[in-house]
Amino acid sequence: MTAPTPAPHRSAAAGPARPLADALLPGQKLLAAVIHDVAPETWSRCRILVAALEGLGIAPLSLLVVPHYHGGPRNVAFERWLLQRAALGDELVLHGYDHRDPLTPQGPAQRWLRRVYTAGEGEFAALDHDEALRRLRAGRDWMGSLGVRPAGFVAPAWLMSRGTWEALREQPLRYTCTLREVTLLPQGPSLRCTAQVWSSRSAWRRAASIAWNGALRRLQSDRLLLRLELHPADAGHASTWASWRDVAIAAMGQRRQAVRLEQLADLLADTA
Ligand SMILES: [Zn+2]
Repeated sequence: MTAPTPAPHRSAAAGPARPLADALLPGQKLLAAVIHDVAPETWSRCRILVAALEGLGIAPLSLLVVPHYHGGPRNVAFERWLLQRAALGDELVLHGYDHRDPLTPQGPAQRWLRRVYTAGEGEFAALDHDEALRRLRAGRDWMGSLGVRPAGFVAPAWLMSRGTWEALREQPLRYTCTLREVTLLPQGPSLRCTAQVWSSRSAWRRAASIAWNGALRRLQSDRLLLRLELHPADAGHASTWASWRDVAIAAMGQRRQAVRLEQLADLLADTA
């Protein structure tokens, strides 16, 4: 007996998708559901998050994929799953190369940001142009080996040095994101929307991020876009799990349309 093939989020027979701006109804609000740090090492938790989002009726998703997460090896079964997700309609977004900050931070502010706040994961926080370009190319080559041309790049922890911005503008990429904006490359415009993102590394961080996300949800409830940005650790704590689900359920209660990040780039291009 063969397993049933899941239905794609958008029928391949439906022809080219209408531009998002044309398809939007007056007052229609959007939801971008994004999973960070998708890699063989986090695969099991990513699948839990994918299933939970789909269970709430949220699809398609944007999967932020790390080509060489913490230096780990390639995994054929994982890569096959990525392509299955893409065939279902999810977007595969380039998310760094190895997701590790290779440089020593200078000064207390940089040390706090890059060693405490991001736990040394801000790979593109301080890279010069040449090293950023080398890593962007290596990441795109890895995705190319899967037959995927990424439309977007999101830096780990959204931290990008000036050299990274310069290198990004030279790449055939259509958009990037920061904590507060989705930006069309090479020069904008940007769509402002602060990401709803949780911190799971300690009990006090979880409590603080749950309070923050509750307030942010109320603050941004009338906005065009809501960004629900999840990490693998969000599958592992009951309190953050309940908090992000509350945000997702409220978004669906507003009848928000789920969109891939690249569709936001289309929207920005239409309005540029
Ligand atoms: Zn990340």
